[in-house]
Amino acid sequence: MTTYKLLVLPGDGIGPEVMAEVEKIAAFLTYEGLVKFEIEKGLVGGSAYDVYGAAISEDDMARAQEADAVLLAAVGGPKWDQVPYENRPEAGLLRLRKDMQLFANLRPAICYPALADASSLKREVVDGLDILIVRELTGGVYFGEPKQIIDLGNGQKRAIDTQVYDTYEIERIGRIAFELARKRRNKVTSSEKRNVMKSGVLWHEVISALHTREFPDVELEHQLADALGMQLVRRPKQFDVIVTDNLFGDMLSDVAAMLTGSLGMLPSASLGERNATTGARKALYEPVHGSAPDIAGKGIANPIAMISSLVMALRYSFNLEDLADRIDRSIAAVLEKGLRTGDIAGGAQNTISTAQMGDAILEEL
Ligand code: ATP
Ligand code: MG
Repeated sequence: MTTYKLLVLPGDGIGPEVMAEVEKIAAFLTYEGLVKFEIEKGLVGGSAYDVYGAAISEDDMARAQEADAVLLAAVGGPKWDQVPYENRPEAGLLRLRKDMQLFANLRPAICYPALADASSLKREVVDGLDILIVRELTGGVYFGEPKQIIDLGNGQKRAIDTQVYDTYEIERIGRIAFELARKRRNKVTSSEKRNVMKSGVLWHEVISALHTREFPDVELEHQLADALGMQLVRRPKQFDVIVTDNLFGDMLSDVAAMLTGSLGMLPSASLGERNATTGARKALYEPVHGSAPDIAGKGIANPIAMISSLVMALRYSFNLEDLADRIDRSIAAVLEKGLRTGDIAGGAQNTISTAQMGDAILEEL
């Protein structure tokens, strides 16, 4: 059996609490012989700064590059508000993304039937929702040059951001979206604003050509980003995989997140290029939520987003679809039984702790 190297970075705040539940599950899977993990642990964020004076050490950076997958919980907190900018906790995460060249951000929005009433939308609109937003993460207007504020004199200034996309950047993110769709419901919706942006024109052209050339079996549709935003709230279940640029993806994935009810439920993955010889991708898995300093140390955080991040690793880094499905079903079953941490309780009285939620999922498994 292949041994997978996991680098575990619990980070700050509720990070170590939710990661402890993932470690329990990983240990169980190994014990049962379902998968073999070699787990190393490292520091990132404020906890790394306290020890090394940097948000991530060179040693842990090197281990991240070596790992088959990196699992990160969350970084940051008021304790490090005064830390110099280049050493702030978030710098650790940004360094990981940059050095590992993670250009594809996968943000699933899943609404478990048991939680459909927690959504901001009507039950029938979101019940059973399962969409995946694939956001380009290293290009576009957040990074394009020139990027500056020019003083024009006479009290006037000019701010410039530049959206830049090259063919290869659109192609590689598109390829990921089509590959993922083949494992799901075989549909990709590509989104840009080609009616007003040249980058949108190129995006549309490159995705269409890639589709014809390599993925004619996958259904492809194009929707302008503003229309897509509307449809996402109106009738979200029409979508399977949505592929879009850095800016639109940032906004649309937050909209999609709110369809599902709680931050404590949502995982994410960031993927890099395939290794030419092994075929494996560099990958980082983390919950969408942050370090939640307000509830840190209380043992009440919801570990499901973190556990679902491990599930994404099983699915996307190790191709263990059946095992991933099994853990997903266990999570759904625990929710069906009515077990809830505080964030998803919707006012109900009997809530359970982080560890109890982890144990319940383990027991179900
Ligand atoms: P960041 O800047 O890192 O995104 P943030 O303060 O914007 O952090 P989060 O830390 O993600 O946002 O959390 C916002 C609030 O949501 C928290 O204060 C907490 O109350 C709640 N929350 C987030 N994650 C969880 C979780 N796993 N379980 C329970 N509640 C959570
Ligand atoms: Mg936030």
